[in-house]
Amino acid sequence: MQAYLDGIIEQFRPITNEGKVASYIPELEKTDNNLLGITLIDTKGMIYESGDTKHQFTIQSISKPIVLLLALIDNGEEKVFEKVGKEPTGDPFNSIVRLETFDEHKPLNPMINAGAISVTALIKGESKEEKIQRILNFIKKITHNQNIKINEDVYQSESKTGYRNRSMAYFLKDFGNIEGDVDEVLEVYFKQCSIEVTTRDLAYIGALLARDGVDILTGERVFSARYSSIVKSYMATCGMYDGSGEFAINVGFPAKSGVGGGIMCTVLGQMGIGVFGPALNKKGNSIAGLKLLESLSKKLELSIY
Ligand code: GLN
Repeated sequence: MQAYLDGIIEQFRPITNEGKVASYIPELEKTDNNLLGITLIDTKGMIYESGDTKHQFTIQSISKPIVLLLALIDNGEEKVFEKVGKEPTGDPFNSIVRLETFDEHKPLNPMINAGAISVTALIKGESKEEKIQRILNFIKKITHNQNIKINEDVYQSESKTGYRNRSMAYFLKDFGNIEGDVDEVLEVYFKQCSIEVTTRDLAYIGALLARDGVDILTGERVFSARYSSIVKSYMATCGMYDGSGEFAINVGFPAKSGVGGGIMCTVLGQMGIGVFGPALNKKGNSIAGLKLLESLSKKLELSIY
């Protein structure tokens, strides 16, 4: 396994030159385009990894399924589904277009920015500080990493330039789909996106979902199998934005990407996978990361379809 992982990292690293690090959040543009790493953790806790697995990067949209889990734990599914729908959009992650046309202006799902911002508004806490702290604590627990923290520079950078997210949030507020103060919700959302992780952190989360909410190291049930199923269904249908259909065909298991270059994957009963490759394709997914996962899926016959 080690030789195979080292081999695919070497084979696909040159593909990073065909993609570009995200630049719409200015701070992300400072990242080295050629980084690439992968970690696999099986449900017994065995770790296999290769490449740039020590590099910390911001979680970005991979925070969406995690915050969704916390929102489900906090509120139950009925309340969450009042705010977001269950359908993929086929549109880019930051698309605003369907907010105007769709029923009650409810975002179609929580994996696009509009839906994720509505879900962030559901996180319980007396203050915005408490809400972000609860998100951090939840991520620390499910990654087994007490050092998880926010990258302040990325947060400031996104907060200063997040005009489109701000406009979507205000639009949703007008239709009653955002609870609480919009600026506070946006602050929590930008901060949750700026949490730093490694491939190993993502693989632990994937492994937890692979056991449907039971911690692979402690045996503790962290969330119900039902919530695990909801989150994985969204990952499978909308986790790779408007590249989700192609990913299902070429790779074939639930996954969530972020513009920081991460991909978090889960294979039921088998393993969690964390990938990092900040050079992105046009849809905002890690270009070499996709190749790693395609190869791995074929090699280990992991497609669930
Ligand atoms: N923080 C980013 C944004 O809201 C997350 C987007 C992403 O990773 N696709 O634009």
